[in-house]
Amino acid sequence: MNLTKQIMTWGQGFDSPAPGHFYEGKQVYTLQSQQSDVLGNQATGLAASPGLTLGTAALRQDTIPAITKRQLQETEVEAEILRLQAGIVQAKAQLQSLRESTTQRLGPAEAAVFDAHMAFLDDPAYTGEMVRRVRSNRSNVEAVVAAVSQEMSDMLAALPDEYLAARADDIRDVGNRLLRLLAGTTPWDPAQLPAGSIVVAEELAPSDVAAFSTGVVAMVTARGSRTAHAVIMAKSLGIPAVVGLGENLSRIAQGDTLMVDGDAGLVVIRPDVQEQQAVKEQMHRNLQLNEMAVQRAKEPAISRDGVAIHVLANIGHLKDIPTALANGADGVGLFRTEFLYLDSDHWPTEEEQFAVYRQALASFADKPVIIRTLDIGGDKPLPYAKLPKEDNPFLGYRAIRFCLDNLDIFKTQLRALLRASYYGSLWVMFPMVENVQEVRIAKDLVAQCRQELKNEGCPMADKIPLGIMVEIPAAAVAADILAKQVDFMSIGTNDLTQYTLAADRGNEKIAYLYDAVHPAVLRLVRQTCVAGRHAGIPVGMCGELAGDAQMTEALLGFGLTELSMGAAAIPRVKEGVRTVSCQQAEPWAQRLLDLESPADVRTAAAHRQGTVER
Ligand code: PEP
Ligand code: MG
Repeated sequence: MNLTKQIMTWGQGFDSPAPGHFYEGKQVYTLQSQQSDVLGNQATGLAASPGLTLGTAALRQDTIPAITKRQLQETEVEAEILRLQAGIVQAKAQLQSLRESTTQRLGPAEAAVFDAHMAFLDDPAYTGEMVRRVRSNRSNVEAVVAAVSQEMSDMLAALPDEYLAARADDIRDVGNRLLRLLAGTTPWDPAQLPAGSIVVAEELAPSDVAAFSTGVVAMVTARGSRTAHAVIMAKSLGIPAVVGLGENLSRIAQGDTLMVDGDAGLVVIRPDVQEQQAVKEQMHRNLQLNEMAVQRAKEPAISRDGVAIHVLANIGHLKDIPTALANGADGVGLFRTEFLYLDSDHWPTEEEQFAVYRQALASFADKPVIIRTLDIGGDKPLPYAKLPKEDNPFLGYRAIRFCLDNLDIFKTQLRALLRASYYGSLWVMFPMVENVQEVRIAKDLVAQCRQELKNEGCPMADKIPLGIMVEIPAAAVAADILAKQVDFMSIGTNDLTQYTLAADRGNEKIAYLYDAVHPAVLRLVRQTCVAGRHAGIPVGMCGELAGDAQMTEALLGFGLTELSMGAAAIPRVKEGVRTVSCQQAEPWAQRLLDLESPADVRTAAAHRQGTVER
């Protein structure tokens, strides 16, 4: 294949590439997007955590001990249980120390996964069941640990819920930790890896990533999806990750030099001297850009042609707020209140909710805080909600549908929100809206609650903007109709992508299909922005796509004026906004809508970033 010829094919209508600049123009993407996933010394997977780096392959070297099932003598049973209990104590000690080091390095939110691991070790359904089986089946501990872990993780993985699917990985991780401890094998210790290591593994658990030495510069795995916990941790650590490399992983040998491009999902195995030089130059430029981005994070993001773009944070807990503020968030674009419910063992009361919302609003003073009403049900079951089992939970009884059918629960939340509105700049957003009627009823309920609170003499903000998430294709297609009913709209690309592409956002097997930059999804984004513009209301985005710095120009070109993302991405996106002219971005973004595939869109965006004079 002729490289230049390929560039010209996809590049029609775009700026021409800088010849000879192998990475700068990202010519390499072209080949990847047109061909299969292997070309020469390159292999592609899923772009999971952004960044570009060079390093040395450090293959994960540990195995789970082979399990042999053994029938115990009656007299051996109690000693076997003591062995299990000793293993549990050791596992807890390891987890406690991982928890402490992760808290120091990444913060309490990331370290929380180890609390979950420790809780499993105390769970009667897990370790309690192991003890029970050693006694009743007289099986050796290793066989019981392996069986119970497998059953529990299979059971969780089968649930159509990405939160619970992630728990399945956690159970496997805890089970493997116990098995290694019982076998007395020295576990692979990523904390000892030297500077410049790129971890190469079939799969990585969050605890592996948390234990990475500070010398680890990237990670590459055969399996995994963009939404896996381990990937989220890599993002927090700021290291590039490419996952889902499949069989190509076996082409990497211990000590190989690797180039990892986490924006493109590309790994170059044993790059030649020229390629390495080009990467080093690009890394140097990236470093300078990042430093500048962090320094200027608290300044407003204003495009070159003077358009102020609000770059906001997505949060799920109060503990996310300090990082959001430190990274220069212009407010909160999405407060996922479901965590308040998921972290509780009962329906949170009005008082409990009020305290949380009030604190969030007060922390951001006059900056807007968009609080999303409960997005629960279907794929995010709450044990105490006793939701019916559904065949298609993603298409089922959830979010606003659930709330409008459970008015007590909904009104409790609305009252708490209205009361908290007095303490800051509250915007309220309804999730999973599909039609105008839902919006009308929700707005009526807000008005009812306002009246009740007024009668009770409760102070509230005079004006609370009410908006919707656009995350169902119907809402995007009919955004012009919905826009007339609301004060703002925010595009949820995580769900919009899965519904538009019929690709479950948590399913690893079809993760290659799930891509928010699919031109079909982008058309809906553009359509929603146009509808917002006509109705004179702001349109933002709070799905993961909003934090994809490579797509910032395209998003501004579509007409978005608010982008909300995980706090870590804010400085980079703000800096990106400052380099864009919204006016120039518009016709360019428009042309993306006619490309054939997500890969072509990414290629074009990468190429544009590498070549456009700013
Ligand atoms: C979305 O769907 O894009 C979104 C932001 O909501 P969530 O990820 O919480 O479903
Ligand atoms: Mg959603």
